[in-house]
Amino acid sequence: MGEALVSINPANNEDLVGAFPVSTGEEVDQAVKAARAAYPSWSAMPAPKRGEILFKVAKILEERKEELGHLVTREMGKVISEGLSDVQEAIDMAYYMAGEGRRLQGETIPSELGDKDAKTVRESIGTFAIITPWNFPVAIPSWKLFACLIAGNTAVIKPSSDAPQCAYEFVRILHDAGVPEDVVKIVFGPGHGVGTRLISNYVDGISFTGSCEVGSGVERTAAAFRMPVSTEMGGKNAVIIMNDADLDLAAQGCVWGGFGTAGQRCTAASRIVIHKEVFNDFALKFGALVKELTVGDPFTCDVGPVVNKAAKEKIEGYITDGASRYKCLQNENSIGDLSKGNFVMPTVFLDVDRNDKLAQEEIFGPVVCLIKADNLDDAIDIVNDTKYGLSSAVFTNDIRNSALCERRLKTGIVYINAATIGAEIQFPFGGIKATGMGPREAGGRGGALDFYTNWKVIYRDYSGKLQKAQVEEEE
Ligand code: NAD
Repeated sequence: MGEALVSINPANNEDLVGAFPVSTGEEVDQAVKAARAAYPSWSAMPAPKRGEILFKVAKILEERKEELGHLVTREMGKVISEGLSDVQEAIDMAYYMAGEGRRLQGETIPSELGDKDAKTVRESIGTFAIITPWNFPVAIPSWKLFACLIAGNTAVIKPSSDAPQCAYEFVRILHDAGVPEDVVKIVFGPGHGVGTRLISNYVDGISFTGSCEVGSGVERTAAAFRMPVSTEMGGKNAVIIMNDADLDLAAQGCVWGGFGTAGQRCTAASRIVIHKEVFNDFALKFGALVKELTVGDPFTCDVGPVVNKAAKEKIEGYITDGASRYKCLQNENSIGDLSKGNFVMPTVFLDVDRNDKLAQEEIFGPVVCLIKADNLDDAIDIVNDTKYGLSSAVFTNDIRNSALCERRLKTGIVYINAATIGAEIQFPFGGIKATGMGPREAGGRGGALDFYTNWKVIYRDYSGKLQKAQVEEEE
């Protein structure tokens, strides 16, 4: 018997969600080989036909939304409304990318020469390695696989060892809908070992979502093999609260941004940068809402567990360390017996120094720090002063403040009068600086299709003579 991978419910460590054999090196190689062999026929299928299969995927996901949403919550611990949203995001993405099967447009652009025309076309690339995290265990595989497939590529996916059951069910749905089994293969196991084997196998590109530490290594491997790579990594996202903001709305937004998914979103609002004139008023309103959150069973409470014991220890390490230096407010509103799960109580640190590690490092848990700013310029400087560049937000009722933030915040996504979370699938998703490299995920111009296709330019000369671009003809 080989090694096994077990998936445990983070709200109840006695509940075994699933068990999978860890893929051996040979199995990873075989998976890549099979996906490569499946590429010629899949890429030859007309894109609208591939789209029809994705429409079927969307239908099955809709039929199974309730069941899959429950599995998401049971396997990685986000509250049930968010477990269902995880699946809804995949449904939206399936419909969107299915429609792309009838678009996948290129352009026809005038040639500078007569009797010659020129156009661009998108071409599929080959077989991709897809490596995913646990925090959106259905949505993130859908962002990657649907774009990859509609473009005519095949893939081998390695999901996080903290959410293998969700990925397994998801891939089964693709197969049930008619995606041939070898077009999407799945392998299981730890990053070091199965993940490294997959990306150093001969694939044609790597799409990775996860931490900066791991992603930087993935980027180096891709560079060594000269493979296209897309990395979507961490964030230290911030919300600015201006002195003209609706503070009640801002407080609600920051609770959602900071404590949704127990703070385990790449876009989580872990820094709140507040104009000094409203710092105390905002802190009171925000603190009151944080205290009201119920913590416990993710099927009934507002905040569930964090993903595993190691994450709990790491986050609590930040809290203990931070509490030795700053005033903090901690939620005490737990419901039921939390001893069998990996629960961390929502925590807010007050008046944190912008350079402190609480304000610079991705904690990835229910911890938010409040930072005081002198004015808008100061607030924008604070927001931009981290290595990450994923998402930011501002609460203001002044159009000038809004416009300045839109232009000057150095993040891939900016929200006005909304939290840092809640991206919609028809727009490119991703960040700048250490957050990621390569074209973005999801839809729209500059989105995932730019990663999963190569542009080809085709010039067609029907003049019947030798025409030379840029060369002046002698009379
Ligand atoms: P992680 O980096 O630990 O793991 C991500 C994936 O990489 C897993 O499947 C893991 O098994 C695999 N892996 C680990 N080591 C590897 C290696 N050496 N080679 C190849 N693969 C390897 O991240 P995580 O804990 O699963 O997820 C949390 C992180 O993901 C956070 O930093 C979060 O910000 C980030 N994230 C980013 C986005 C985004 O779009 N920017 C979205 C969600 C999560």
